[in-house]
Amino acid sequence: MLCAAGVLLGVRVHATPSALRTALLELDGGKVELDFDADEFQLPAEDLIDWVRTSARAVETFYAGFPVDHVRVTLIPRRGKGVITGRTEAWDGARVRVQVGTLTDRADLERDWIMVHELVHLAFPSVPSRHHWIEEGLATYVEPLARLEIGEVPPETVWHDLLDGLPKGLPQAGDRGLDFTPTWGRTYWGGALFCFLADLEIRKRTENQRGLRDALRGIRAAGGSMKVRWPLEKALRIGDEATGVPVLMELYEKMRASPAPVDLDALWSELGVERRDGHLVLKPDAPSSATRRAIAPEPETAREPTSSGDIPRKFDR
Ligand SMILES: [Zn+2]
Repeated sequence: MLCAAGVLLGVRVHATPSALRTALLELDGGKVELDFDADEFQLPAEDLIDWVRTSARAVETFYAGFPVDHVRVTLIPRRGKGVITGRTEAWDGARVRVQVGTLTDRADLERDWIMVHELVHLAFPSVPSRHHWIEEGLATYVEPLARLEIGEVPPETVWHDLLDGLPKGLPQAGDRGLDFTPTWGRTYWGGALFCFLADLEIRKRTENQRGLRDALRGIRAAGGSMKVRWPLEKALRIGDEATGVPVLMELYEKMRASPAPVDLDALWSELGVERRDGHLVLKPDAPSSATRRAIAPEPETAREPTSSGDIPRKFDR
């Protein structure tokens, strides 16, 4: 799957690589074999290695283990600055290719979401193409949560992304459900909407004892990585077994072949997520603020509404 972050600035044609750098990153459950041509990038090789290691650690932590025993990650130099696009496949060994601008600096890597997004793809089985929305939706929904879990982003980033992105995943006129409406919005954000609604419902039925993360950990523990090809229903059933509530299958039945509109504004007010004067505000006393904190834990000291106004936007997600 191909996941683009912004404008592709141009393809660099370059001589034979002269300083191929490889690094083997050991994680709980698997290894990342990283390779790139260190001469191509202005940043020291160690910074690029640290970025990949941190991204892999976010995924390892969220899933309670790295999803595949081995993945080869290649950084492809491109003219320009910032992380540009990524692609993940597993038909012949797990492989991630990410295009990185040669002028990329440390701040670009700190802002990056693409590496984690790509690595999250490894943690769900390959499913028939009409369910592509679950693959992109999971990567879209899980990526900021995984980065939050290792302290790379604050909870406000999670809610900012959802507030900004989920409206793009709502059904438009003529929508025929997630399995039959393969538009960009329904694939990435419609899929994320499915994940978000599932997370909320699992938490509601289990009094915040379980969440979507438990379902996804269960799927991973059952061997459901991108390296295997499963019917979607198999993955969803295993996820439901892990949480003890059949939310994934029920929600799939509801959203697979009909638009199933959602009142997002009502959900935001229940959760206490609000945009006020251009700032994101998380209200401590909303009816479902405990669910909000269960999804994206907030610092215990936050008694007052927390807010943040300078969270970088993702350009085309
Ligand atoms: Zn993707």
